Amino acid sequence: MNRVILIKYGELTTKKGNRSFFVNTLKKNILNKLKNYNIRIDSDLSRMYIYFEDKDIDNILKIINNIFGIHMYHIAYICDTNIYSIYDVSLNAIKDFSFNTFKVETKRSDKSFLYDSLTFSKMLGAHILKNIDNIKVDVHNPDLLVHIEIRKEKSYVYFNSYDGIGGYPVGTQPRALLMLSGGIDSPVAGYLSLKRGIKIDAVYFEAIPHTSLDARNKVISLVKKLVNYTDCINLHIINFTHIQEEIYKNCDDNYVITIMRRMMYRIMDLLCKKNKAYAIINGESIGQVASQTLHSMYVINSVTNMPVIRPVACLDKLEIIKIAKKIDTYDISILPYEDCCTVFVPKHPVINPSIERAASMEKEILYDTMIKEAVNNVYTIKITDCYDDIEDLKKLL
Ligand code: ATP
Ligand code: MG
Repeated sequence: MNRVILIKYGELTTKKGNRSFFVNTLKKNILNKLKNYNIRIDSDLSRMYIYFEDKDIDNILKIINNIFGIHMYHIAYICDTNIYSIYDVSLNAIKDFSFNTFKVETKRSDKSFLYDSLTFSKMLGAHILKNIDNIKVDVHNPDLLVHIEIRKEKSYVYFNSYDGIGGYPVGTQPRALLMLSGGIDSPVAGYLSLKRGIKIDAVYFEAIPHTSLDARNKVISLVKKLVNYTDCINLHIINFTHIQEEIYKNCDDNYVITIMRRMMYRIMDLLCKKNKAYAIINGESIGQVASQTLHSMYVINSVTNMPVIRPVACLDKLEIIKIAKKIDTYDISILPYEDCCTVFVPKHPVINPSIERAASMEKEILYDTMIKEAVNNVYTIKITDCYDDIEDLKKLL
């Protein structure tokens, strides 16, 4: 029997004028993710059909379950639009289920079909009762619901609805840059932004030799997890050593984190312009550490006019951890390698900094030149589904 994955768009259907752009982006994303399988996709503005080879169904569903923009789908059996085909296919398909009671529900979008929905449900119900022993109809609480959709070209029989991952298709928003540390919060921030359809690239600040290549590899592993939800993420690695050393040499201990983060934001601002990115995304969460009080955010944010999106700003750490576990980044994030924010943490970082004090300390540093140098020397790794660390390591050696 021929089956098809029947996708219904959910939230997408609210995008009236833009609907075809959303649907086409979703279709392109699905085709890309399923490029290793022999599939075909038909779509219109209300639904999408993925035709597949039966042997691939389990692998395909695993992939489909990570594609944003899919809110709900069914695995439907395909019939011709005539009663005999629908009878045959339904009866054959239903034999895979064990049940005592059932109900047929028909939707008829092809109004030229001879019978209305209710009449056809009753006819098919009677046909099923005649052919299978010891079952009954229960219209209130059936063990098995037999859904029939009658459409002009083909008709469909399905029994279950499966939840998709929701969100908007990645690429329906332009690019933004995710500040990705090796921590728990920023990969979750990346995942949540992808869910809104944002195409992300990642930026990692490292301070070799104070931070290790293990720390970098950890970030690469995190990007690989995020790539499960998109086609490709460019990871921009910024050498932050010189800037960080200058900050520690010239600024008051309690302001080093504030100033370090202002420098990161300045670099992000330039990188956004260079990469045509429309926002900075990070894993800041209000009140989590000294640099994430609202006072600190105000002082740090004041060096850029770019929108800064903080998807986990209002989540508790436990809520963030729950998502990190779901997307399989948690175990990587808790590996112990230090990143540049954790190597020299002052004892008493300021929680209520002033812009004037930060700016006056920054005058001691030739930060303009250093920032431009850091941006010009960015090292970029393109990470796709088939990214191979070994090849990359060979290039580095
Ligand atoms: P995370 O917040 O990801 O768990 P963290 O707690 O080590 O990591 P914070 O000190 O809370 O990081 O920094 C807040 C945010 O700033 C991070 O979520 C991340 O978006 C960004 N950030 C911090 N350090 C780096 C870095 N080395 N490279 C890129 N972004 C960073
Ligand atoms: Mg954090």
